[in-house]
Amino acid sequence: MASEVLKLTAQIVISHASMSELTPDQLVGEIKEVYNLLASLEGDMILPEVPEPLIGKEEVRKPPIPLKDIVKEKYVVCLECGKKMRTLKAHIRRTHNLMPREYFNRYGLDPKKFPLVCKEYSEQRRKLAIEKGLGAQRGKRKTKTA
Ligand SMILES: [Zn+2]
Repeated sequence: MASEVLKLTAQIVISHASMSELTPDQLVGEIKEVYNLLASLEGDMILPEVPEPLIGKEEVRKPPIPLKDIVKEKYVVCLECGKKMRTLKAHIRRTHNLMPREYFNRYGLDPKKFPLVCKEYSEQRRKLAIEKGLGAQRGKRKTKTA
């Protein structure tokens, strides 16, 4: 395997040397360079393993607050900074630069169990949605609006 690479290296360097004047030092340098390149391309040289990118595989953090305490009647608690607010959607995006999905992933939360809005707020939204739904399309069951 290596001899094949060596042959190729020689051919490349010879053809290059025939076109341009190279000092002995330059020639040696070029041989090394070309050889290494070819060898690495062929897989002859052991290249360090490139670890898989960690994008989207961020380690799940342990929520700093007991999960039963994060979604309350009047507020939800931000797990990033502990702030209490009626809805976290805009907050986590603006303050922590997180999309809801990233936020849920980060803490391993189930979005269905841990909404980003307090119970009161989601109840209001639900009622509104039902009212709208009833007005717009009577008879059709539609309770879910995102
Ligand atoms: Zn926060």
